Amino acid sequence: MAVKVILEKCKGCTKCVRSCPFTAITMENKKAVIGIACTGCGQCIDACPFGAIERAEEAPGPADLSEYHGVWVFAEQREGKLMQVAVELLGEGKKLASVIGCELCAVLCGSGVENLAGELFEYGADKVYYGDAPELKQYTTGAYTKAIYEAILAYKPEIVLLGATHIGRDLGPCLAVKCSTGLTADCTRLEIDPETKGILQTRPAFGGNLMATIVCPGHRPQMSTVRPGVMEKAERQPGRRGTLIKLDVKFQEGDIRTKVLEVVKSVREAVSLTDAEVIVSGGMGLGKPEGFQLLKKLADRFGGSVASSRAAVDAGWIDHAYQVGQTGTTVKPKIYFACGISGAIQHAAGMQNSGLIVAINTNENAPIFDIADIGIVGDLYKVIPAIMEELDKYPEA
Ligand code: FAD
Ligand code: SF4
Ligand code: SF4
Repeated sequence: MAVKVILEKCKGCTKCVRSCPFTAITMENKKAVIGIACTGCGQCIDACPFGAIERAEEAPGPADLSEYHGVWVFAEQREGKLMQVAVELLGEGKKLASVIGCELCAVLCGSGVENLAGELFEYGADKVYYGDAPELKQYTTGAYTKAIYEAILAYKPEIVLLGATHIGRDLGPCLAVKCSTGLTADCTRLEIDPETKGILQTRPAFGGNLMATIVCPGHRPQMSTVRPGVMEKAERQPGRRGTLIKLDVKFQEGDIRTKVLEVVKSVREAVSLTDAEVIVSGGMGLGKPEGFQLLKKLADRFGGSVASSRAAVDAGWIDHAYQVGQTGTTVKPKIYFACGISGAIQHAAGMQNSGLIVAINTNENAPIFDIADIGIVGDLYKVIPAIMEELDKYPEA
C-alpha cells in the first residue's frame, strides 16, 4: 500500500475512514486498516489528528531487475473453463521462456477449479500458482488484483502476459499500477532480447496506420495484453505434469468494492468468430443489410460463421459482435471470404493471418487483393451464387 497505519498511534477515531474518497479504509479491532482500493492520494494522512498514517515505502519500483525470473501467463477461466487465449499465451510464453532459459508459469484464480492446473501443465506450464477462494469464483477487479498482485510481489516474475479480453483489459492495468510497472495493451507480436531479457512488444498505433514496438527497460514485471486469436496455441502434451503452488489468498473488508449480482449473457458471447474454421465476411460492397443473408448461405455450406467490416457495423447492418479488425475481433480461420470489403489496414489487422483468404471485389485495385490468396474481380451477387452452384456439385465435400 502507498500509505500505512502506525498501530500504536491509531486511536480509532475513524476520521480517516470518512476522509478517504476511495472507501479504502476499514476499522478492525478499533484500528484503521488500509485496503487494496487505496490509490495513494494521501488525504487520510492529513485527516488523521494523531499522525497515525504515513506514506509507506514505495512498492516495487525499478528494483533490482535480476531478482525477477520466469514468464507468467494469466490463465483466465470462466465457469471453470479455460479461455482459449490462455492456451495461446502459453504457446507464446513458451517461446519467450525458451529464449531466456526460464520457467513458464500460469497464474490461475477461482473457486474449486484446481483441476484446470492439470490442463495448464499439459499445455506447457512448468508451475501453476493457484489462488482459491469463494471471492475468486467470479471475476471482480478488487479480488483478482489483490490475489495476483500479492503473488507477483512474492514470486517476482520477469514477464506477465494476459489476454486482451474484457477481464484481461481490466485486470492488466490494475496490476501494472500496483506493481509500479508498465503495460503494453493489445500486442500483436512479442519478441525478446536474450541479453537484457527485455520484451519487444509490438502493437498497432495511430489508428492502425503504423506498428509501434514498446519496451519496458527499467521496471519489472514487463506486462502485456495480447488479443485472442493472434498467437499460436500451445500444443497439448497429455500426461505432462508440473508443480502446483497454492497462493495464500485472504480478503478483508474494503478489498472488494464490487458485487456481482447477476450474469447476463449477451449476443456477443454467442458469436464465436475466434473458433470458426470458415468465415464469410461482408462489407459496404453488399450495398444493403439483406446481403448478409446470401453470405450466411455460403457460411452454412461450410458450417462457418458470417462476419463483417466496421463500415457495415457502423451502417447498422449487423451487430458489432461480428466485426473483424483492429477494433473488432481478431480471427484466424482456415478460410476467410472477404466479400465487398476494400481491405483497409484496420480490417486486415484482424484477419490477415487467416489460412486462405478469398477476396471478391468489383475493384481490381482494392487493397484486399494485396493480402488475398485467391482474388476474384466481380460482383459478389454473381460470384457467390456461382461458388455455391459449384459446391453443390460436390455435396460430400
Ligand atoms: P469500403 O471501404 O467502402 O469498401 C467497400 C468495397 O466493396 C470496395 O472495395 C468496393 O470496390 C467493393 N464493392 C462494391 N460493390 C461491390 C459488389 N457488388 N461486389 C463486390 N465488391 C463490391 N474497419 C474494420 O473493418 N474493422 C475494424 O476493426 C476497424 N477499426 C478501425 C479503427 C480505426 C481507429 C479507424 C480509423 C478505422 C477502423 N476501421 C475498421 C474502418 C476502416 O478504416 C475502413 O473504413 C472499413 O474497413 C471499410 O469497410 P468496407 O471495406 O466494408 O467498406
Ligand atoms: Fe486511527 Fe488516525 Fe484513522 Fe483516527 S484518523 S482511526 S487515529 S488512523
Ligand atoms: Fe484512501 Fe487516499 Fe488514504 Fe489511500 S491514501 S487510504 S486512497 S485517503
